[in-house]
This record gives sequence, C-alpha cells and structure tokens, in this order.
Amino acid sequence: MHDRSNVHKATRQRLHIVVQGIVQGVGFRPFVYTRAHLLGLSGFVLNNSVGVVIEVEGEDQALADFQRALHAEIPPLAHIITMTCEHVPLRHERGFTIIHSDAGTERRALISPDTATCADCLHEIFDQADRRFHYPFTNCTNCGPRFTIIQDVPYDRDKTTMRVFPMCPICEQEYADPLDRRFHAQPNACPACGPQLSLLSKDEQGQLCPVESSDPLSEAARLLAQGAVLAIKGLGGYHLSCDALHVEAVQRLRQSKRREDKPFALMVPDVETARHLCFVSESEATLLQSHQRPIVLLRQREKSPIAPAVAPDYQTLGIMLPYTPLHHLLLSAFRALRKTDELTALVMTSGNLSDEPIAYEDDDARSRLSPLVAAMLTHNRAIHMRCDDSVLRIASGGEQFFRRSRGYAPEPIILASALPVSLLACGAHLKNTFCLGKDRHAFLSHHIGDLENLETLISFREGIEHFQRLFDITPAAVAYDLHPDYLATQYALGSAIPQKIGVQHHYAHIASVIAEHGLTGPVIGVAGDGTGYGTDGALWGCEVMVADLLNFERVAHLTYVPLPGGEQAIRQPWRMAATYLAHTYRDAFLDLDIPFVRQLDRSKWHVLSQMITKGINCPPTSSLGRLFDAVAALTLGLHTDVSYEGQAAIALETLATTCTDRVTAYPFLLRPGQPMQLDVTPLIDAIVQDLLHTVPAASIAGRFHMTIAEMLAAACDEVRKQTGLNSVALSGGVFQNRLLLELLIARLETLKFQVSINRRVPPNDGGLSLGQLAVAAARLRNDFNPSRVETNPKGA
Ligand SMILES: [Zn+2]
Ligand SMILES: [Zn+2]
Repeated sequence: MHDRSNVHKATRQRLHIVVQGIVQGVGFRPFVYTRAHLLGLSGFVLNNSVGVVIEVEGEDQALADFQRALHAEIPPLAHIITMTCEHVPLRHERGFTIIHSDAGTERRALISPDTATCADCLHEIFDQADRRFHYPFTNCTNCGPRFTIIQDVPYDRDKTTMRVFPMCPICEQEYADPLDRRFHAQPNACPACGPQLSLLSKDEQGQLCPVESSDPLSEAARLLAQGAVLAIKGLGGYHLSCDALHVEAVQRLRQSKRREDKPFALMVPDVETARHLCFVSESEATLLQSHQRPIVLLRQREKSPIAPAVAPDYQTLGIMLPYTPLHHLLLSAFRALRKTDELTALVMTSGNLSDEPIAYEDDDARSRLSPLVAAMLTHNRAIHMRCDDSVLRIASGGEQFFRRSRGYAPEPIILASALPVSLLACGAHLKNTFCLGKDRHAFLSHHIGDLENLETLISFREGIEHFQRLFDITPAAVAYDLHPDYLATQYALGSAIPQKIGVQHHYAHIASVIAEHGLTGPVIGVAGDGTGYGTDGALWGCEVMVADLLNFERVAHLTYVPLPGGEQAIRQPWRMAATYLAHTYRDAFLDLDIPFVRQLDRSKWHVLSQMITKGINCPPTSSLGRLFDAVAALTLGLHTDVSYEGQAAIALETLATTCTDRVTAYPFLLRPGQPMQLDVTPLIDAIVQDLLHTVPAASIAGRFHMTIAEMLAAACDEVRKQTGLNSVALSGGVFQNRLLLELLIARLETLKFQVSINRRVPPNDGGLSLGQLAVAAARLRNDFNPSRVETNPKGA
C-alpha cells in the first residue's frame, strides 16, 4: 500500500513547450491561458519569433491534461506544425500570465489566411439584443480578415488597414481580456468604432456618387431584387453581383464584361440551396462549409432555375457560401424580398473586365467598374492585398484546386526537408503564383493572374516584396521557367538575386506533386498540359518523364505537330484540327466529306499550310491541350474563336460525360525510341471514320477520352518495364479535365500503379512555382549543375 501510494503521489514539474505553425493571431495564447487556469497550472505564455513559448508548472496529472488539450482542442484557425517539450527547473511562481512580447521579434510568425465568419459571430449579427446586431464587420480571434488587411509585420492592429479605426472602450476591453474571444483580435470592431458601409449610385452623368442612406445594405438588396447589377466590396476585392435567376440581368452582366464566356460563380445562403441547384456530396458539402469557403465546382441539376448565361454550355456551377458578415446580411436581406418559392442565389463574379485583375482599390473600382453597374456597395476598410476567391472541386476522392487564393494563401506548404537557402520561384506566365521558401515552409502566393498587362505585372512585383517582408525572406536563389518570353522569367533573370536556376515547365508540374506529397525516389511523371517551353525549343505538353527533384529524363511524348501561328492557335481550335488532319492525310484531307472539312475556309487553310511548309511561326508541339482542341473542333465542327484556353476541350468533356454507351478506346501507337513517341494518327483516322459514319458526337468524345487515358497508362506501363518504377505522378492543366483524370487513375490503378496527383496546389500553372522551388532546392542541396542536361534535347 505504502509503495503504491508513493508511485501515485503527485510530483510537481515544469515544462517548457515551444509550438510552431500558425499559432499567432488565432487565439492560441488565450486558449493556453484558459486551459492553464482551469487546470490550476502556473507559468506563462508568450509569442516570439519562432512561434508560441509556454512554460507550465504543476502536478503530473494536470500537466498531462494540459498536453492532451494542446493536441486535441486547439483553436479552429491554429495549425501546429511542430511542438517540442522539455523539463526545466521549478520556479514556484503564482498564477499564469500572458507575457507581451516586444515587437520586432514576431517577424517569423506565420500569418493566417482570411477566414469565414464563425458561428459565434454569426449568431451575434442576427441577435437583435447584441451590440453587433446587423454589423457587417463583426469578427473575432477565430474569424475575419487577416492576409488581405496586413500591411506589415509584426501582425498588430497598427500594421493593418484597421489602424485608422481606434477601438471604442468596449472593444478595447474585449481586446485586452485574455478570456474574451476577441482578445488580441486585431480587426476587432463594432458599429460605434469600426468601418461603415456606403452605397454609391449613378448620377445623371453616369458617375458613381455616394447616396444618403440609413441602410445601404437593405438598399443594395432591393436593387439586386429589381434586377440591377452591383459592384460589392468583399474581403479581397470587388465582386460584380446580380440575381442569378434573373435572365436579363445575368445577360446584361455578361455582355458588359466583354469577350468573356467563363462561367460566373454564385453565392447561395446555405448548403440546402446549393442542393436545389446541384448535386452535392458529403465531401462537397464539407468543403462548401469549411472556414476557407472556396468556390466549389458542382454538377448542376438538369432543371436548375439558374439563368442560362451564368455558365453557358457548362454542366458545372461554381458555388460558394457567404464568408463575411456583409455577405450573410446581404443574402438574408435579399432572401427576405423574394417570393417564398424562389431560390436565393447571387452571381458573385470577380470585379473586372475580361483579362484584367480583380479591382480592390476603391477609386480604381469606381472608375473601372462604373460602366458595368448600376450601384456599388462599398465600405471604408481598405484592402491591402488583392485576393481572389479560391476554386476547388472534389475529384477522385479528394480536393483538387483550380485556384488557390483566399482562405488558403499565405498558409505555407510544409516541405519534407528544410531548404538549403531561402528561395524565390517566379512561376508561369498564366495563372501566375510565385513561391517564397525558407526552412521547411513554401509560401505559395495568392492568385496573381495572367502576366499580360502592366497591372498584373505590378501586383506580381509588389506581391513578392510584400511576402519577403511578411516572412522575413531574402532569397539567395531564384527559380524560373525556361520560356524566354515569360515576364516572370525576365523578372528572375533581371533580379539581383545571385543564383538563378531554370526549371523546365512540365518537370516543374511533376515536381509540384513530388514536393507536396514528399515522395522520395524517382517517379514516372505524366504532364498533360497546354504548352510549355521544352529544352529543345519545342512547345511541350504531353510528356512522360522519369523524374525526381534533382533531374528528369523525358522518356515519351506525343508526336510533334506544328502549332500554326504559335499561341494564336489557342484561341482558334480549328487550326489544330486542320493541322492534325493534314498530319494524318496530307492534302487529301480536303476531300473528306465531314462537316468540319466542308465548313473549312480554304483560303485560311491555304495561308496556314504555307506557314507550315515554310516553317514560319509554326513551332513543333506535343501539347495534349492542343490535341483536345483539335478533336473538339473536328468533332463539333467548330470554326469560331474561343474566349479562353481550353474552352473547346471543356465542351468536348461536357459532351463526353453525356455518352452513355459502353465505349472502347480508339487505336493509337507507341513508337519505340528515345524518347518513345505517342502517335495519334490512327486515333485521328478512327475519329474521321466515325464522323463519316455519323456516329453521335457524344460517343466520339467519350471514346477519345478513354483513348487518351489508355494511351498514357500504356506509356507508363512501358516505362515500368524498363525502369521498374511503380509510382506515377500526374500534373498539368489538362488534368483539370475530371473525366480524363478519373479514367486515367482508374486505368493506372488497375495496372497496380501508385498514383499521386496535386491535392494542395493546382495542377495548372497556378501550382508551378512550388515545383520550381522544390527542384531549385534539391539542385542547390546537391550542388547539381543541370546546364549540360538542360541544353541537350536528348536528355540525360
Ligand atoms: Zn468570429
Ligand atoms: Zn467598438
């Protein structure tokens, strides 16, 4: 008895705990404080440059409970990456305190992304008795703006766009109370002291001018219900909004956005409404309601009441739920004005004209968006960083990013091992993101956009500077794409960063998969893409490679065809269709009795064929995206221009998903060689035969998808025979094609391959910078000089 009680006799100990990750500005210290209090522990908690440091002293059991809480009960926005714990000598102090750190030491702390309104705040804004009733800028430690309002570090109200709003005494009290859920919530505000809404409407000259309104929000809802198009200031920029069921309003918005066929995103009040419009699985519902609140791509129901111009020719709708109090209140006011049987759905598309970046500064938004809108619902809390909505979907049993931005940036991707030096990777030309890396953190930027105009280029440069300051990173090396015309490449080459490392485009795609999954050892990489600059100067886009983070060998690719007129072919898919027909039949294709050829403008083709013969502006390409364009144009008889890359391919995919016949693959050839050639001449011929026999287009589209999956899987199988490798990584923009992705994964898994795809960054060029960063790091770590390899078209 005596011995046993001795064993159980509580002993007093003291622990020193260091927690790293997203642990600052997310209510971590109050959480620690509350737990320590409840368990009767003494000690302190403080923020420093590394993360959060905790010392707790007390009896064994209480300490164990405390540690358990640290693992299991942390605040919703906290994200622990590492936690160390050691015993230190007792201090016997009284009570538990939060020690305020001196500024300047918090530079290395991670910054939380912007986060959707939490349940507590939501309750307050709809509670008539609450002092924040109907207040559109309500937030707390668990929710609200972060990344978009932070101007500098350390993260403190003074360094955010909230600094112009001194807190009232009540807010001040909440902010200072460790037991309040607004303790150190930097954007804390209330109707008495915080930002305010205002409404602007058109005057006689058509200028947007402030109007006197006691309730701008209800007024805006009323205008929307009447069919007006409004600009609405959100978290990371302005949206253009209208009633999504109002056919004429949506049409008006589409026309005013010009040259724009891209689908509009919708905002609906809840998952139930989303279910009325689309099929929503459990994992899709979870993603819709997550605190990141992305746009989720969902399959539309056939009889959905949404105006056709929202997503012309699309089977999918991009839907998000409200993520700020402003959105919640607006949707609620809008819903109150509708008939009981009418659904509530607002178009919420980026506030821009077709190719420009989203407007986020008030004056700029006012001048750029005024021709498009009847009124503007805005406010006086400035947005410091533009940040577009993120776009995801569930595919092949997990999340797949189309755009990783609001709600996710700037949360780092954690690398398998520490970087040898701090690094910058500049990314691609279109859908640009950059990536800054330090230690094990890869800070992938928000969506910058297409680096085609000055404004986007400026936000690229400023974004890099901002991230360098926020995360205290001075890159010692910079990684870039090999395409000499990319502005991101020119930025890298012109920068003062001492070491510069070029990384081939499709290799970077594959490397992004290797990096995010921490794969070790070489993999068989399959890049299905638009076009990217190859090491032989050709425009690659369907590449099978053996790759690790140090180097790659291109072991197979789609047989080259000319890309007539270079990038112009992207907007004119008929060029690729004609090119593939000429590649298959020479000039005899002009006699084929199929709709595409009958409608072909012979004089246009004559010019093109002259260019091809003389080799003028017709770089060879192995692009899979362009093959999809060609087959789309051929099958659908498409001779018109498209408004964005991949539009024809999406039409083909949409058609293929309606194919209910049990189809088999068309023939193709794998021609042995170094590298092996994927020859689709038999495939084109078989499609032409089907067209001659008026086989339904849906069936052709379905068979074509199956053929590409079959061909890529067969190529992997060949590579496995030669290398013994069993792990396949898929990346590149073409894998946004869900049908192809799922068919290929299924085929590879039948062949017992281990398949990895991008889950945390997009497979399109938005994920490229992560791959560039990972390759540059590996090469620096191993003192690897790729110059010999990169200039030799035959590979290593
Ligand atoms: Zn909250
Ligand atoms: Zn206040």
